[in-house]
Amino acid sequence: MSDCIFCKIAAKEIPSSLVYEDDVCVAFKDLEPQAPVHVLVIPKKHVESVLALTENDKALVSHILVDVIPKLAKSLGVAEKGFRVVANTGAEGGQSVKHLHFHLLGGRSMQWPPG
Ligand code: AMP
Repeated sequence: MSDCIFCKIAAKEIPSSLVYEDDVCVAFKDLEPQAPVHVLVIPKKHVESVLALTENDKALVSHILVDVIPKLAKSLGVAEKGFRVVANTGAEGGQSVKHLHFHLLGGRSMQWPPG
């Protein structure tokens, strides 16, 4: 989508601190980190949110959650102690960028409930 900031990051039209890339997704450091490790994993394909996912996106979601995030958690050094994966969805869910993204947060003890 032409006016989507995360599409532009995926297309390398604007810079980011990339930590991972494959054919399906990219991961980059969050601009305003909320934990010592805070990366965003996004599909290259524009999908607005969890709510916009369809049957056709099952492989994409599975790839990100099964293949990519666990490996990233290990490579970023947070797998052993634990980490959090968050997909804020919609206004009350706190979603500010309307391109599906999974926050991977770690490196400190997380609180519950979230704010
Ligand atoms: P959310 O509020 O769940 O939609 O998360 C959006 C996240 O994207 C926030 O944590 C922002 O700090 C982050 N963000 C926005 N623009 C950029 C950018 N250009 N590069 C890296 N992270 C960004």
